[in-house]
Amino acid sequence: MNPSLLFWIPAALRLVFLLLGAAVIGFFFGLVPGLVAAVLALIVLLGVQLSYLYQLNAWLDEPNSEKLPDGWGAWTDVYSRLYRNRRLDEKNQAELTEWLARFRQAMHLLPDGVVIMDDVLFLEWCNPAAEQHLGLTLERDKGMRVTNLVRSPDFMDYIMLGRYEQPLTLSFKERKLVVQIIPFESRRQILVTHDATDSDRIDMMRRDFIANASHELRTPLTVINGFLEIALGQGRLDPQTRAAHLKLMAEQGQRMQNLVEDMLTLSRLESVDYPMRSEHVRVQTLLESILREANALSAGRHAITLEIDGPDIKGSTEELRSAFSNLVSNAVRYTPAGGSIRIGWCMTANGPQFSVKDTGIGILPENIARLTERFYRVDKSRSRETQGTGLGLAIVKHVLLRHSATLSIESAPNAGSTFAVQFSSGSVCEAALPMVN
Ligand code: ADP
Repeated sequence: MNPSLLFWIPAALRLVFLLLGAAVIGFFFGLVPGLVAAVLALIVLLGVQLSYLYQLNAWLDEPNSEKLPDGWGAWTDVYSRLYRNRRLDEKNQAELTEWLARFRQAMHLLPDGVVIMDDVLFLEWCNPAAEQHLGLTLERDKGMRVTNLVRSPDFMDYIMLGRYEQPLTLSFKERKLVVQIIPFESRRQILVTHDATDSDRIDMMRRDFIANASHELRTPLTVINGFLEIALGQGRLDPQTRAAHLKLMAEQGQRMQNLVEDMLTLSRLESVDYPMRSEHVRVQTLLESILREANALSAGRHAITLEIDGPDIKGSTEELRSAFSNLVSNAVRYTPAGGSIRIGWCMTANGPQFSVKDTGIGILPENIARLTERFYRVDKSRSRETQGTGLGLAIVKHVLLRHSATLSIESAPNAGSTFAVQFSSGSVCEAALPMVN
C-alpha cells in the first residue's frame, strides 16, 4: 500500500473517533458540552504531538539510538524509522572507526614513508617512517610547505620539473632515499619515501668485494702468465731457473686456490639457505687435529701448547674447525720463529671459551676494529708471504655469528695477541655434561 495512505488513514481514523466521541457527548448532553469535549480532545491531541516534538528536539541534541523515546500514533513510525537509520549510521561509523584504526596501524608499521600534501605541497599528514626519513614532526610541521621542510636542491628540481612518473634518488640527512610524488584526488598529492641506505651499502660492499677479489686473483695470475711467457719465449731454460719458476708458479696457483676456497666458504656461510648443523662437537679431538696442523705449518719454529679444560659444545664441527684453525694459523703466521703459541679451551662464568695467545708481532689498537673486514690486512706483504687471503677473520666472524659466539681481540705491537671466542652457556652439549647423582 502507498506509504502516505498508511500515515494518513490511522491519523484520520484517530480524528474521526475523537470527533465521534464529542458527537456522542453532544447528543446526550447538548451542543456546548459536545463542542467543549471536542476542543479539549483536540488540545490533548495537540499536547501529545508537541510533547513528542519536544522529545525529538531534545534527542537530536544527542542522537543515540539507545535513548530514542517510544512514540504513539504516527510517532511510532517516525521513531522506529529514526531508530533504524540511527542504528545503520552507528554501525557505519563503528566500521569506519575500525577501518581508520587499521589504516593508522598499517601506516605506522609501513617501512616506507607516506606524506599527504595538498595541491600546493602543504603538509596535511605523514606517517612515522616519513617523519624519520625527512626529519619531520607532524604536530609541528602540519600546514607548512614540504619544500620548506625538505631542503634539498635535487628535491626542488624534481618538483619544478614535475616529472612525477619517475622516482628521484636523493641523498638526504646521511640517508639514500628514493622518493616519488603521486598526485591523487583533484587537489592532493602523496609523497612516498623509501630508505635505500642499506641496499646501497650492500651494493657498495658487493662492488668492493668483486673489485678486491679480482685484484687478489690478478696478482698471482700475472706472475704465472709472466713465467709462462718466459718459458715460451726462451725455449731452453737451465734446469735450476726452470725449477725456481715452477716453484713460484705452484705457489701462486696455491694462493689462487686458497682465495677461491675462502671466497666459496664465505659465500656459503652468508647464504641464508645454508642451514647450520647443530651436532655434538668433540672439542678435544677437534683441537688435537688443529694442533697437529699448526705444528706442521710452524715446522718447529714455535712452541705450541694446547690446554683443554672445558665441555663439548653443540654446533657445526666443520665450521668451527675452519674458524679455530684460521685463528691458530694466524698465530703461527704472525709470530716470528722462536715465539710461543698457547691454544686453550676452558669453561668461564659466561660459557665455554676458546683462546689463542701468541707472542707475535701484535696489532696496533686502531687496526683491531677492522680486522674482520674482508681483505683487510695490517701488513699486506707479510700476509701474502704466508699465503694469507685476507678472508680468514671474515670467515671466523661469520662462523661465530652462526654459533651466537663473540670474538674479542687483545693485542699490542710486539707484545703478542690473544684472540678469544666466547660461547654462551646454552651452547654446552648436554650429552657432554657430567652426570650428577
Ligand atoms: P690473512 O689471510 O691476511 O691473515 P685474516 O683475515 O686472517 O687475513 O687476518 C687479517 C689481518 O689481521 C692479517 O692480515 C693480519 O694483519 C692481522 N692478524 C690476524 N691475526 C693476527 C695475529 N695473531 N697477530 C698479528 N696480526 C694478526
